[in-house]
Amino acid sequence: MSPIAYAIPIFMLSILAEYLLARRRAPGAYDIADGVTSLHFGVLSQIAGAFTYLLTIGIYSWTFEHFRLTTLPQNEWWVWVLALLFYDFCYYWVHRAGHEVNLLWGAHQVHHSSEYYNLTTALRQTATGAFTAWPFYLAMAIAGIPPFVFAVVALIDLLYQYWVHTQLVPKLSVLDRILVTPSNHRVHHGQNDYCLDRNYGGIFIFWDRLFGTFTEERDDEPVVYGIRSPLASYDPVWGNLNVYRDIARRSRAAPNLWKAIGVWFEPPAGRGKQPPPMPPNFQRYDSTASMAARRYALWQYVLLIAPATHFIAIARQLEWLERAQYALILVAWVWSLSGVLEARAQSRLVETLRVVATAALLLFGASWFDLAMDLIWRTLFTLLMLAPLWSLYRDDQAATPTPSSRSSISA
Ligand SMILES: [Zn+2]
Ligand SMILES: [Zn+2]
Repeated sequence: MSPIAYAIPIFMLSILAEYLLARRRAPGAYDIADGVTSLHFGVLSQIAGAFTYLLTIGIYSWTFEHFRLTTLPQNEWWVWVLALLFYDFCYYWVHRAGHEVNLLWGAHQVHHSSEYYNLTTALRQTATGAFTAWPFYLAMAIAGIPPFVFAVVALIDLLYQYWVHTQLVPKLSVLDRILVTPSNHRVHHGQNDYCLDRNYGGIFIFWDRLFGTFTEERDDEPVVYGIRSPLASYDPVWGNLNVYRDIARRSRAAPNLWKAIGVWFEPPAGRGKQPPPMPPNFQRYDSTASMAARRYALWQYVLLIAPATHFIAIARQLEWLERAQYALILVAWVWSLSGVLEARAQSRLVETLRVVATAALLLFGASWFDLAMDLIWRTLFTLLMLAPLWSLYRDDQAATPTPSSRSSISA
């Protein structure tokens, strides 16, 4: 069972606690549509992980089997310390390349596409990163760090980074200079001039100090979160693919094959170019969907936690076809909700079809992907899914396909 499944209740409870605290201590830190979208990205990332884990851990294990120079004993404590430091060092470089090389930015930009900063932002993870990140860690396999140790320290590095995505924790003095902390990671998510391409560390910030990319958070200039080429959408599928589309277009327009390939390896702003300037009166992307539609999407997300957790827990035991079917149901779930959040044309109809189809599968299927569930529970879950549909239809604003807008940062 994936260890992430165990972490989900902790994620959800801590997000709820942060949301309640932020209402008084950091107003403007949360937005329902943005927060739900971040969580949708997290679901997609985990779905992708159920198909790509063989790529990451598989290639690592194969390299370890065939090319390791030695075998480090996994029952020695110093091997674990060394592995964690080694992993974090590699993470620094994969993360830095994720900001400086187009192909990798296409995957990593997902994590920066929120214009808010809170614990949900931590879960806004890429679905395509596994395809490009794996070569960066092979040095660990060659050095003889066993695959199990690698997998555990990778998980520790990932989970550590969760808590730093908050505006509620102030500067932490000397810790800000050794560890990645909320303060120095806020800088990393900023689009202010002083924040760009800074503070890449995973657990330790001393890599940034060593390689000249460290910057301290400024008290006199509030961090403006997000990226200079904003996503301006709540669609997590599009959010994963849009930058690749832009790079492919630039590549196709190149005068020759060499330059067409080169586009994929240029910095995101283009070779020798500066990123576009931050607008003086930056406004966050905002939904024109009504509050009722946003609450509807939030409720459907709360329901999604159950099947998403189940999928994450058991996906690797399912046959490929069944795994793909389950994944498709969950992708349709988050994609349809993004339509509701954006008040897209026909989003009510699409969402109704999605809910009815999911309910039919749940009620009339022989079993729900190896999960034996009494009819009473299936019926109850179906009702919880279907009942709020009326709020979408009652509410006229939710159905009006007007373009989403951008709201003032101070709102
Ligand atoms: Zn980053
Ligand atoms: Zn982050």
